[in-house]
Amino acid sequence: MKKMNHRKILSLCMCVVYCSLLVSCGSSSAKNTNQINGNESVTKVFENEKNADETDTNENNNSQEEKKDDVSASGDIFAMDTYMTVLAYGSHADEAVKEALKEIERLDGMLSATDKDSEIYELNIHHGGHLSDDVSDLIERSKEVYESTGGKFNIAIYPIVEIWGFASGNYRVPNQDEIDALQEDIDFSKIEFEKNSKSLVYGSEKMKIDLGGIAKGYTSARIMDIFRNLGVTSGIVNLGGNVQVLGMKPDGSEWKVAIQNPVEEESYIGVVKVHDKAVITSGGYERYFEENGVRYHHIIDPDTGFPANTGLISVSIICADGTLADCLSTSLFIMGKDGAIEYWKMHQGEFDMILYTEDEELFITEGIADSFISESKITVISE
Ligand code: AMP
Ligand code: MG
Repeated sequence: MKKMNHRKILSLCMCVVYCSLLVSCGSSSAKNTNQINGNESVTKVFENEKNADETDTNENNNSQEEKKDDVSASGDIFAMDTYMTVLAYGSHADEAVKEALKEIERLDGMLSATDKDSEIYELNIHHGGHLSDDVSDLIERSKEVYESTGGKFNIAIYPIVEIWGFASGNYRVPNQDEIDALQEDIDFSKIEFEKNSKSLVYGSEKMKIDLGGIAKGYTSARIMDIFRNLGVTSGIVNLGGNVQVLGMKPDGSEWKVAIQNPVEEESYIGVVKVHDKAVITSGGYERYFEENGVRYHHIIDPDTGFPANTGLISVSIICADGTLADCLSTSLFIMGKDGAIEYWKMHQGEFDMILYTEDEELFITEGIADSFISESKITVISE
């Protein structure tokens, strides 16, 4: 049996780097971006010496405000099992990036299913309990998507994720009896969620939840809120290849987000130009192991208990709501091409998508037809 986590880390790095390159291209201040790691303090860096001098000698004349679009700050952190980068522009950029990094650490500590100090771990041990505002919101959103996807998005899938070894890294192929024995324990409808009292009661002692399919999208959405509340109007967050952007780039152009090629690690299948959107991708290539020449990945079809095997190798969702984008990238990957297209037609206007198949065919929805650039042949899906 061959563990493949190193590939995931490499591919995520590539994605982060590539995205950073794209973000930097054509941005006058990106080369002066401050790097913030963890809680390190930052100083603003202006585009050239003249600006820096102005700041030194004119502390009371608002020169920083006048130059606000020239100011940027960025930070990076390893959290939620991946590399994350945050970049903000404007006079509040440094504060926004610091707050964003703090928020990532807070949510990482709260939402991990494996960290013994997390709220999710506690809930799983005690078969339910009282929920924080964040976890209550996440359960509510998960439930909505569970219902709208006919159960394909199912945070109660965790007992199955565990027997495949995706939680511990001790990968193995379970037998059908083991999977069948867990059917009742992965039935999300048996978990009682009381929104008003923010309480959760599991339907059986073996039930466990896992927010791995929604947490990164929720985190990027929260960072956009932090940016907005601090007056930042231009920024981007890249959580291991899952990207969300605020506004336009400071030069007034759209952000360009590269979609990684799941087959060739160092290339990409296309670039989508966006503003005020999340671009979130799910793919079997992100985490998998191989046994007897068969590849088993981490996105489980709740109807079979096996990794989804529907001919798609990557699904990207483009949507203003990062939380929804994350849920849908996981769900539509499980549905396969036809199911994903049917779902999109029933939810017109809510999101756009990029589907990449095992046969290396590329399908995009009409909403991004003018903003997706690729060297490959593209089929545009319309109503
Ligand atoms: P993503 O990378 O967003 O597609 O999420 C994949 C992660 O979501 C996996 O690593 C599991 O933790 C979890 N997961 C796997 N299958 C499902 C499912 N059917 N519904 C919800 N979450 C899932
Ligand atoms: Mg997801």
